[in-house]
Amino acid sequence: MDSYVNTVMTNLSKINYGQDEFYQAAKEVIDSLKPLLQAEEKYRKFRILERMIIPERTLMFRTVWVDDNGDMQVNVGYRVEFNSAIGPYKGGLRFHPTVNLSVIKFLGFEQIFKNSLTGLNIGGAKGGSNFDPKGKSDNEVMRFCQSFMNELYRHIGETRDVPAGDIGVGGRELGYMFGQYKKLTGSFEGVLTGKGLNWGGSLARTEATGYGSVYFAQEMYDKQGGDLEGKICAVSGAGNVAIYTIEKLYELGAKPVTCSDSGGFIYDKEGIDLRVLKHLKEVKRVSLEEYAKEHPHAIYTPVNKYPAGRNGVWGVHCDAAFPSATQNELNLEDAKTLYKNGCRCVCEGANMPSTLDAVDFFLSKKDFLYGPAKAANAGGVATSQLEMAQNASMQKWSFDKVDRKLRDIMKNIFETAYETSEEFKQPGNLVMGANIAGFRKVADAMIDQGTV
Ligand code: NAP
Repeated sequence: MDSYVNTVMTNLSKINYGQDEFYQAAKEVIDSLKPLLQAEEKYRKFRILERMIIPERTLMFRTVWVDDNGDMQVNVGYRVEFNSAIGPYKGGLRFHPTVNLSVIKFLGFEQIFKNSLTGLNIGGAKGGSNFDPKGKSDNEVMRFCQSFMNELYRHIGETRDVPAGDIGVGGRELGYMFGQYKKLTGSFEGVLTGKGLNWGGSLARTEATGYGSVYFAQEMYDKQGGDLEGKICAVSGAGNVAIYTIEKLYELGAKPVTCSDSGGFIYDKEGIDLRVLKHLKEVKRVSLEEYAKEHPHAIYTPVNKYPAGRNGVWGVHCDAAFPSATQNELNLEDAKTLYKNGCRCVCEGANMPSTLDAVDFFLSKKDFLYGPAKAANAGGVATSQLEMAQNASMQKWSFDKVDRKLRDIMKNIFETAYETSEEFKQPGNLVMGANIAGFRKVADAMIDQGTV
């Protein structure tokens, strides 16, 4: 089995030379599939792994727009449609200067298994651009979004490919893109999710990824007879996922004491002031440094004061950690520091926030709860599918109804991943459980559908 997997990984690195993030994501999944591949010969016979690691389609396109000074700006747009075996392509759009093909492919690959785990019929995709919305005027963001959609509209549709938001893509960007799609096609349809509430959006979609991640953590605690209530929590990020993680942590009786952005992090031992955080990030869109001005007792640490090679957030004493900013924001040294300081749970709201050696460290500790991203943050995409269901049936469900469904979905994801980890004799290894359960459903659908 090792030699088969090594051959797949060698070919993958040759074909995708220099795509480090994609290689990392693929390695984590493929290594954990070994027991299944050993037990079920059909997946090798039908060459499912070799097929799954190649996207069905990769789109890369020029996006030109004019800034407020009248100067022409050029960005790259991406949409990687990875796998449609179990449903239309689904996955967010990321606008951030660090976006490249490797980042979009890692996100799209992860999305295949995450979407499958939700139990809903959605395929895997991801897209975005190296455009940076930060510091741009609303008009500049609009002109970029319109230009981006001028190409993307040809490839998407409510039963074909349904993008959503991700880093740098929130309600404002989705609104501009939806408007342009409608202008170009003349069709008002559920082609994007995360839409505004007046034009087809679902209640609780904004909250879903953060809430879902906390529900998942609660499921992990329940299983070992513990509780989130009373726990001190470190959260990274100060965007959509982080804000609603913090909100739900308070609702379940925990105390979140940190948040971070690309400039630094806040430690507020009295608990993060959610009202202030929302105002700074959702309304004013400014640096977290401002938080310390409103709360002098809180400590702001800029990135250049972080310990060398580490992320300052993970140096704070806590019981549980919720990485909710970006990929590879928690490395082995951070993992060891968290553990040494008493942390016994990491639940991932961001995609691939922990490096491979940090994940191995968590899995090696018997007294540690580790919720991998593709299970723990699947609440966002699951609720996107609930938005699609409401759009298709022309209904609008209440906040409570969507939230209840979200909670049930997160419970099912946890149970599926846990039961699969037991089936393969590593109870509690949710990396293995989530990967095998997600893979099996997609792989079987691919076999059913023939050589396409
Ligand atoms: P967001 O609203 O744009 O917020 C991202 C946050 O992370 C911001 O506070 C940002 O700080 C910080 N950040 C981004 N890049 C960073 C970097 N390189 N170093 C330090 N901080 C950085 O995005 P989001 O939707 O919350 O997404 C956060 C994570 O969750 C991503 O990994 C995303 O893929 C994942 N996720 C999101 C959803 C969803 O529904 N939104 C669903 C599943 C997974 P600045 O503002 O200073 O840049």
